Amino acid sequence: MGHLEEEILHRTRDLERAVLEEAAQKKADQAPPTCPVCGNKLSRVTQGHERSYQTRFGVVRIRRLRGWCRRCKCWRFPADDLLGLAEAGSCSPGVQEMAALAASKLPVGEASAVIERLTGVKLPRATLDREARRQGRKAEGKRQQMDQQMSQGGGAAQPVPELRLKPAVEPFTLVIELDAWNIRERNEEQWGRTQALRQRGEEPEWWHWVYGGTCFRLSQRVEKSGGRSVILSRGTVMTRGGTDALKQQLWAEAMRQGLAQAQDVLVIADAAVWIWNLVGDRFAGARQRLDPWHALQHLWAVAHALHPEDEAAAAAWIKPLKDKLLESQAAEVIDELDSVIKSLRGSRRETVRAQRNYLENNRERLDYRGAEARGEPLGSGAMESTCKQYQVRFHRSGQFWTTAGDEALMCLETFWRNARWSLLFPHVPADFDPSRN
Ligand SMILES: [Zn+2]
Repeated sequence: MGHLEEEILHRTRDLERAVLEEAAQKKADQAPPTCPVCGNKLSRVTQGHERSYQTRFGVVRIRRLRGWCRRCKCWRFPADDLLGLAEAGSCSPGVQEMAALAASKLPVGEASAVIERLTGVKLPRATLDREARRQGRKAEGKRQQMDQQMSQGGGAAQPVPELRLKPAVEPFTLVIELDAWNIRERNEEQWGRTQALRQRGEEPEWWHWVYGGTCFRLSQRVEKSGGRSVILSRGTVMTRGGTDALKQQLWAEAMRQGLAQAQDVLVIADAAVWIWNLVGDRFAGARQRLDPWHALQHLWAVAHALHPEDEAAAAAWIKPLKDKLLESQAAEVIDELDSVIKSLRGSRRETVRAQRNYLENNRERLDYRGAEARGEPLGSGAMESTCKQYQVRFHRSGQFWTTAGDEALMCLETFWRNARWSLLFPHVPADFDPSRN
């Protein structure tokens, strides 16, 4: 049947192309000779200005009228606006979407081959790359506009559908998880140095932080058979633009997920200082929790200081303390570390003291027993696994990104994940949600 499928595809393709060309031409012919920006009547109008587009069915040519807008002082093609092609390059909206989706999932060369094989559309690497970046910048612009609208109190239409309903939903806890990871980038300012390094046979690498957060209502976290939990609905942000950019994006996303309605807000993260600064600044009053895996790393540091050569002894030492930590008995763990410190001298003493102080400083964030009783996630695993999924794309070997390029592609990926793809591509059904697949 495969051969039949191929053959039918080839035979109908030109027909589809012709149908699209005719329909688009008809629509273009309906464009009035007025400026699509200011509404002014156009002068010096001439017909038949041809432009061609790469579409799903091959190249389509459209003739449009052109006129001079005296008010805007520029030439206008009203048909381009009517067809949604005003800011387009040579790609139709369907192909723009293809480029954006494929390039945010795959390296460009592969994306180009996959698109050609699956759809028959030939998008050379350079065209695909240019189009994907253009769509990425468009997505960044959209995000900026939405976040700004939210911060100015005009985002009433943005929350997830359940939260827009009246009367208000039942009291709920909003969970926010934060994390960061590294991305490898090519830094344009250091491009000269790059060449010098390459000549010495060294591969230059620059690592930069990517900050992310995810928010969801606790009721959206459900246990699947087998004990694995899934989050049915959530909003994620991911940015290469520093902690200030994260703060702005995360707050807007938390608002979409119910920050203003939440009875209770819980933030879970590792102990990085920037995280708790951000939380204190933007989510003051939220309960805070330290991811238990990160907390345990500090007990392991003590275990290894006490039993440097003996892994079994280290594991035996940590066992009762680990149980106490997870039972919300942090005070007893700290007491235990205090008595250990008394028996030590020199650098080992300092190591243990540092870990003890770390736990002391995070004491209010260690209520794991309470978390379990309330059915909350103990740690920030949901965010960590989201970061890993982004890393699969952005860490692919041989990939070097520029700051602007990776922020744009990451922004596309985030619109996709948050089921907001139709905000970028209006022909996509508004209820399309890739997480349901
Ligand atoms: Zn005008």
